[in-house]
Amino acid sequence: MIALAAAAVAAPALGGRAFAAGEGDYDVVVIGAGAAGLAAGRVLQEAGKRFTIIEARDRVGGRTRTDRSLGLPFDAGAAFVHFVERNPWRELAEHHGMELLPWKGWSHFRPYAGGMALGDGYLERRRRARETLWSLVEVLDRQGEDASLAAIGASMGEDGATSVRDLAMLSLGENPERVSALDAGSLWEGSDRIVPGGYGTLVASEAAGLPILLDCPATGVAVKQRHVEIATPRGTIKAGHVVVTVPLGVLAAEKIRFAPGLPVETIRAIEGLSMGALTKVVLRFDGERFGIAQGDDFVVIDFGAGPMTFEMWPFDRDLVIGTTGGDAGRDLGARGEAEAVRAALDAFASVVGATAKQRFVGGRLAEWWHDPHAHGSYSIVRPGATGARAALGRPVAGRVWFAGEATAGGGAMTVGGATLEGRRVAKAILSGTQ
Ligand SMILES: Cc1cc2nc3c(=O)[nH]c(=O)nc-3n(C[C@H](O)[C@H](O)[C@H](O)COP(=O)(O)OP(=O)(O)OC[C@H]3O[C@@H](n4cnc5c(N)ncnc54)[C@H](O)[C@@H]3O)c2cc1C
Repeated sequence: MIALAAAAVAAPALGGRAFAAGEGDYDVVVIGAGAAGLAAGRVLQEAGKRFTIIEARDRVGGRTRTDRSLGLPFDAGAAFVHFVERNPWRELAEHHGMELLPWKGWSHFRPYAGGMALGDGYLERRRRARETLWSLVEVLDRQGEDASLAAIGASMGEDGATSVRDLAMLSLGENPERVSALDAGSLWEGSDRIVPGGYGTLVASEAAGLPILLDCPATGVAVKQRHVEIATPRGTIKAGHVVVTVPLGVLAAEKIRFAPGLPVETIRAIEGLSMGALTKVVLRFDGERFGIAQGDDFVVIDFGAGPMTFEMWPFDRDLVIGTTGGDAGRDLGARGEAEAVRAALDAFASVVGATAKQRFVGGRLAEWWHDPHAHGSYSIVRPGATGARAALGRPVAGRVWFAGEATAGGGAMTVGGATLEGRRVAKAILSGTQ
């Protein structure tokens, strides 16, 4: 058993009876302290189980993180509380005394190319293209077929194809040729909220009181007859069950070795998924607003290999948040922070003028593609692999449970979906063994 003391962020709350089937040091070990892992931990704690959460990073929150290094907070990962009507973070925000504000939606971005405004006609064509896209996806669904978003876009003419590309890269973080249309069409809808105090800060609040070991990556999971053994550089932990919440990218990179190997169904599920590359560049200015009001956001549609949105002055802060995705995001991430910030500032200046460079104070690149504990922004179903999320969500040998945004069905790619999955799996373990 590994030492608990060194990196625990909270006193371990052990106790409660062991599962009949388990022979380990713990009833359950949860791998990963992101939204799913924390949610699983909370359920286990409320049930009085012996468990611990192990986390590879030196912080909790995973793909949520509120960055304050520019002197003003911004979310480097998740920022929007999607489908708030069924998102558990609405209630959790209230519990933690954090405010949520309405978000005006995604259709207002003013488009620019070559530094020129493209006007309302362009926006109207885009709106119609989006409607056509989803009606074509519905037809596919009725026929029980799948296609890539790009294939559907190609059937909609040049304008349609570009609209679909922009939608895929900016909302899903991936190029449309790699995205299953049926999966994209099955994602939950609802209203969005934003978090002035930071979504990352909110998610991290959920760690309070949970037993969490930081700087403790799992490197292996061995399934034995009556327990599982989780290998870490700090020793091996035995438990009745393991909940694996690491990102799909980490599973695909085989950072955790499973023994015996995972069943074919789980391997196929992992192969049916990939990771997108939603990437942000955040620019801080000295108070100059260039005559642009908060919320007068714009999108530069010719930002290298794709489009980049610029969200203006979020929460009335002197920040501009640039977002791109797919190959444009990977390309930006590969250039490194200084170069990426320069490219985003150039694109911003192409719209507001060269004074942007004089009033610029500093910038940050927030990218996840090269992050060794994520390997991308969030999971994408490959065209034709529509059952992959559900298949990954099925337990292995009754002891190894995968949970996270990748298994979240209509809630995939989101913090809310990951949280619901963490709860679902923890409850399934409890109900199966009590
Ligand atoms: C740029 C960006 C923007 C986004 N925008 C939104 C948004 O606006 N709204 C929204 O709802 N979602 C958004 N998302 C997606 C959202 O952040 C994720 O869906 C969600 O945070 C995933 O939670 P999780 O618990 O499944 O995974 P994670 O948060 O990734 O948690 C998994 C944890 O496992 C840890 N780990 C990895 N390897 C190991 C190991 N070997 N051993 C132990 N621990 C390990 C990781 O460090 C991590 O802490 C965004 C993501 C990105 C990157």
